[in-house]
Amino acid sequence: MQQDNPDITLITPSAPMHANTHGGRAKCLQRLVRLDLPVPTTVALSFDAVHRIAAGDLPDMQALLAPFDEDALVCVRPSSEDPDWGGPGAVLNIGMNDATYVDLADALGQDAAATLYMRFVQAYAVHVAKLDPDMFDDIEMAGQLGLSEALHAYEEEAEEPFPQDRGVQLGAVLRSMARAWEGTTARLLRQAKGAPADAGLGLVVQHMAIGLGQGECGSGVIQLVDPQTGLEQITGRYLSQSQGRDALTGEAALFLERDERGPSLEEAAPEAFADLKAHTALMRTRLREEMQAEFTIENGKVWLLDGVRVPRTARAAVRIAVRLADDGIIPREEALLRIDPRALNELLHRQVDPTAERDVLARGVAASPGAAHGAIVFSAAEAQASAARGEACILVRRETSPEDIRGMHAAVAVLTERGGMTSHAAVIGRGLGLPCVVGASEMRFQLRKKTLTAPDGRTFRQGDMITIDGTHGEVLAGQPALIEAAQDDAFQTLMNWADEFRDINIRANADTPADAATARSFGANGIGLCRTEHMFFEDDRLIVMREMIFADRPEDRRAALDRLLPMQRADFTELFRIMEGKPVCIRLLDPPLHEFLPHDRAGHRELAEALDLPLSDVTHRVEALQEYNPMLGMRGVRLGVTVPEIYDMQARAIFEATIEASRDGDPVVPEIMIPLVSAKREVEIVKNRVDSVAAAVYNETGAEFTYRLGVMVETPRACLRAGEIAPHAAFLSFGTNDLTQMTYGLSRDDAGRFMSAYVQRGVFPEDPFHTLDTDGVGELLQIGAERGRAARPDLILSICGEHGGSPESIGFCRKAGFNYVSCSPYRVPVAKLAAAQHAVLDKIG
Ligand code: PEP
Ligand code: MG
Repeated sequence: MQQDNPDITLITPSAPMHANTHGGRAKCLQRLVRLDLPVPTTVALSFDAVHRIAAGDLPDMQALLAPFDEDALVCVRPSSEDPDWGGPGAVLNIGMNDATYVDLADALGQDAAATLYMRFVQAYAVHVAKLDPDMFDDIEMAGQLGLSEALHAYEEEAEEPFPQDRGVQLGAVLRSMARAWEGTTARLLRQAKGAPADAGLGLVVQHMAIGLGQGECGSGVIQLVDPQTGLEQITGRYLSQSQGRDALTGEAALFLERDERGPSLEEAAPEAFADLKAHTALMRTRLREEMQAEFTIENGKVWLLDGVRVPRTARAAVRIAVRLADDGIIPREEALLRIDPRALNELLHRQVDPTAERDVLARGVAASPGAAHGAIVFSAAEAQASAARGEACILVRRETSPEDIRGMHAAVAVLTERGGMTSHAAVIGRGLGLPCVVGASEMRFQLRKKTLTAPDGRTFRQGDMITIDGTHGEVLAGQPALIEAAQDDAFQTLMNWADEFRDINIRANADTPADAATARSFGANGIGLCRTEHMFFEDDRLIVMREMIFADRPEDRRAALDRLLPMQRADFTELFRIMEGKPVCIRLLDPPLHEFLPHDRAGHRELAEALDLPLSDVTHRVEALQEYNPMLGMRGVRLGVTVPEIYDMQARAIFEATIEASRDGDPVVPEIMIPLVSAKREVEIVKNRVDSVAAAVYNETGAEFTYRLGVMVETPRACLRAGEIAPHAAFLSFGTNDLTQMTYGLSRDDAGRFMSAYVQRGVFPEDPFHTLDTDGVGELLQIGAERGRAARPDLILSICGEHGGSPESIGFCRKAGFNYVSCSPYRVPVAKLAAAQHAVLDKIG
């Protein structure tokens, strides 16, 4: 009869039952029943039925209890659509009353019967009657005396006797669980886990396998893998004479498998253990998932009460998916789909141990994942000094600038007061794989006093230890335990499969040989963006660069550039060699020149000394180069047009390095990219000069080489005018950091100050510097791509802003027909997996 009732359904192999009507637990129990596994009789209540119960409309209790023996005890468990959304706790032993107590005392012994009744009275009092949990504190006696006291205490508090009718008890339990689910706290909690606001709850009413009594009785949980590593390892506990999940907390719990550390279920009840192992293995193959089973043993017989996906770390998730595919249980495509690409960050960087206690001082933008502890330092020089002493330090700055790069290299993590996802510290941090929190403006940064003050008033000084959790964007006090990165063989296998399935190339943004080596180790298809400005911040170069900036006459400028040329040539040769013939896209100098000049008086004095100029000259020149709005000023191609010697030098260095690296290695075809273009004429001018440098190098050396010249599209105008720019460019690479900044008219360095308020209030669905704004910026990308390709069908399209590493943006770029995305080296694995998932999803429709 119940099979016909969509709201009260006896779980049988053929009963209509779906996760989206009865919840994941009910569906899973049906699967176990279909496998003929020993599941106690269970009835599932649908979401609709539970919703009505919450409104006070109980189902037909007689029908609900019909499948159970008249005197059977039952339990109720929650069954939300996705088990991760949680639900109210299970209530066990419903049906216990004075009469069943007497019967069970005869059958199981008085103590067991008293324990069962007592447990139910306590759960009912707290969860159903909502009485004070402390009311049972004074009961010290066990057994029958304790039970009598508990029943008495209940009657006193509730002002009525403990209900004796099983139907009444069950109705009240169902109502309290249904209402708990609809409460505000529960709703917010599950929404935080990704549940929709109106997510439904199902409930399952199950015959109690008691776990107490004569013979071997007890309960436990079992799974076949280690939840941390995913390696094969029977894991779990069993506790004799227990119920529910007591085994996980009970001190007398047994190991499951024979174990040197103590007694095991395998020794105590070998047959039950063998059955359990076989049942769990069958669940693994037939449910196509690594499962954790909750079980009860009753007088030696095993009952399976429940099955859930094994909870797991990201590292275990990768190994589990790979092993399931290797064992032929799931196809490789499915293994790829089972891993959240972002979760790979856990394998790529050290993390705060999820079980460690977190003393959160403040929150900011989670700009670069990973965690590290170290002593606070407030300047790049101090960071370098710390590193020289072998001490781990955290570089704390208001914001970082190119001058801080060497300090960043020396630090184990970076914390800044200002900035957002694409500010300097964030971009460099991700490139270096350095944990980084930016925009932590709720802390007080007093750099002169060398103190950092948390919102709660705690003050930290230079040398104090803190922890930066760049994965969660948190600053923590002290040194919570960390867990190491783990790029094991399973991770490597998953990456190989991702390469097999993905149909868009993934390149890396890499500025240094170390970045390039990381990119290679993750199997990047090339370098999509080499920001050359970082090469000029080495001490020996910075001074020559400054000389060049201060040169009055073209010949003086050329002399300084002649000294930079061999250094640049060596940089590029090394990059080409590391990349072994894979494409390397080099961006000509982009930032405004004043970024290379010192900002304070002491720096000006040092520079005056080095250049042998009066201090006032230096100060005036620095002032003259200041701009009101440097990000919209003399930078990018505007420098190339007005101070063309710099690009000439860079082009020459690229071509000479090409010849050198091709001589003893794979042939190199360099790509040269012009930044911040907004007009066709800019491209024509730079192209003419680069072409003539190429011709000059060819004439001087006689060595043949080819190259590709392309345009970085990062102004809205360049997107709109892509049709006239493309004929002069072999490729267009969208710089979505600047493009987002200019599309929104929103400073990428200052957005952090109000971005969280904007996102919280729903003004922006996400931080557009983090997740590509497909509506606005995306439309510009689409326009640029379409107009560019229409003018030049073989045009190579790519994206090299930070969005290149975000899974959603990769989907967008793939659909728009882009050839590759480029992201920071440590995001290459994330990007590869995301790209493979998009391809697989397209394939399976
Ligand atoms: C961009 O603007 O998207 C970009 C990649 O360049 P940068 O971040 O160096 O300005
Ligand atoms: Mg840019």
